[in-house]
Amino acid sequence: MALTAEWICTRCGSTNRLLVPDGATRATDECVACHTRHALEADARPVRWRARPLGNKAA
Ligand SMILES: [Zn+2]
Repeated sequence: MALTAEWICTRCGSTNRLLVPDGATRATDECVACHTRHALEADARPVRWRARPLGNKAA
């Protein structure tokens, strides 16, 4: 089984969807619009995941 993780890009606000294995709590994905990579973490609600930008530039 797999579930759809929905996450909002922190950079451009686009909604992204990623198919993840059932039971997964972490994933990484790239925004379809601006191609920023994000680390995704399952929240209390299973559908909407929290997204944090992954970058190699020091913030
Ligand atoms: Zn984006």
